[in-house]
Amino acid sequence: MTSTPRKRVNLTNVTKEKVICRIWGSGEMSLCNCDKCGRLFLAKWESRCTSCSQLVLKDTHKVKDFVREHPRATLIEIYNMTGVPLQTIKELMRA
Ligand SMILES: [Zn+2]
Repeated sequence: MTSTPRKRVNLTNVTKEKVICRIWGSGEMSLCNCDKCGRLFLAKWESRCTSCSQLVLKDTHKVKDFVREHPRATLIEIYNMTGVPLQTIKELMRA
């Protein structure tokens, strides 16, 4: 599995996460800090722990359902209507 480097800005925990991944990284699995809650977890390529990934998955469905019904909705409208964090919506819109 190849991991594509993602461009992330203005995230305070990015530096910490990268340092820890470098220290602990061995072979395929690395011990990383979760992007969202900061907990340590074993990761191949994902940047969030299992519980946070599941939360994001729920948010993903919320956003996708809303966008399907409101194709012209703006980021702020999606945020106001779904309550999903802006950061998550932005990631989804990029994908
Ligand atoms: Zn987490």
